[in-house]
Amino acid sequence: SAQNSVEGQSQIQQDASNHILHPFVDNHALKNKGARIMSKADGVYVWDDQGKRYLDAFAGLWCVNLGYGRKELIDAASKQMATLPYYNLFFNTSTPPTVQLAKAIAEIAPEHMNNVFFTGSGSEANDTVFRMVRRYWDVKGQPTKKIIIGRHNGYHGSTVAGTSLGGMKPMHKQGDLPIQGIEHIRQPYWFDEGEDLSPDAFGLIAAKALEEKILEVGADNVAAFIAEPVQGAGGVIIPPATYWPEIQRITDKYNILLVVDEVICGFGRTGNWFGCDTFNIKADLMPIAKGLSSGYLPIGGVIISDRVAEVLKSEESGDFLHGFTYSGHPTCAAVALENIRILKDEKIIENIQQNTGPYLAEQLQTLADHPLVGEVRTLGMLGAIELVQDKATRKRYPGNGKVGSICRDHALDQGLILRATGDTMLLSPPLVITKEEIDSIIKATKIALDNTL
Ligand code: PLP
Repeated sequence: SAQNSVEGQSQIQQDASNHILHPFVDNHALKNKGARIMSKADGVYVWDDQGKRYLDAFAGLWCVNLGYGRKELIDAASKQMATLPYYNLFFNTSTPPTVQLAKAIAEIAPEHMNNVFFTGSGSEANDTVFRMVRRYWDVKGQPTKKIIIGRHNGYHGSTVAGTSLGGMKPMHKQGDLPIQGIEHIRQPYWFDEGEDLSPDAFGLIAAKALEEKILEVGADNVAAFIAEPVQGAGGVIIPPATYWPEIQRITDKYNILLVVDEVICGFGRTGNWFGCDTFNIKADLMPIAKGLSSGYLPIGGVIISDRVAEVLKSEESGDFLHGFTYSGHPTCAAVALENIRILKDEKIIENIQQNTGPYLAEQLQTLADHPLVGEVRTLGMLGAIELVQDKATRKRYPGNGKVGSICRDHALDQGLILRATGDTMLLSPPLVITKEEIDSIIKATKIALDNTL
């Protein structure tokens, strides 16, 4: 095949663009730019192959919650690999780590949720949701309930169902999506869409869009509503306090399953075990992944409420014809189980609540005075900084995210990994980050903002 050879690039950089089609990347531009080769990590730091150190304020992809290099997780994997590296959950079998993990998840999940369907990723979890909610209503004898309502700018993964449930227009354009039977409503993004309303008034209006959509398509045709507690990839969009109670009222009133995508928020990110705990939401299904294993091995799942589990385990239900080779992979499960043990034993979530969460909030707010910054938001170990041209009117710069990428590159120069979604800078550091490391984030971000101006 044609080989790319660019002057100044190392062999591995050239091999990377010659042999990998990178996800969510302009692969043509990457040929000239050269991939950054990350080659080792420890704690909250990663090093590239040139020896440059970065503080990873994004925890990989919102997932390395315990930070890098945790020996207990490595040992759990190696021990399980030596005992039983793989077996499946098909054909009436289970494995000890998988059973123990399901039980451990049921213990930390809300009271009414005691079952898990295992997958290999968050996208597979949402594909599972798509099939599971339809199966639920079929078995219940209400087969017309098929439509799933998601939100504009929501993210639920990049498989066909995941992309369709999500509301990312540029993704929909590739592959003629969404698939049939999926509708979208507006997002509760006060900063961009709230105009002159108070956040609380706007939150109610954004939630009522769900009721309007249900009435438009008919409640008898709606299976479920799906949303992230806090939109992650969309821009760490923390909904106004009025939003979730109104959504709950509407899904209860019209007998619609409520799916709360916990792939980012689950396992401590918002300062509680689940986003549902933080916002007091009673969900029917909770897709999970990422922080379940701190990203050390790929594993995801759907946590299932008792009322849904009862139907799917009923005599009438029969075989649920769904599952993956790696559903409940024992080595991944052993690592996830150890990850949960560490989160509990080291009181990592309590520490976010009482200590590092408020500290991140307070320190990040010091950047709100910066001329480029329109708003700073935080929740637990999530943060967002909105970059604007005009602070008073919240007006954006032209260029569709150009300023955000400039700021992200300046942060990289400072040895700090942030993410930019449009002109919103996102933070999702490892949950174990210390106050001193938070200070380093703030210092480097301030320099990056100054250099962006
Ligand atoms: N759901 C949410 C809320 C996510 O943020 C993501 C990934 O970022 C996914 C689902 C998809 O997970 P995965 O990339 O493991 O397929």
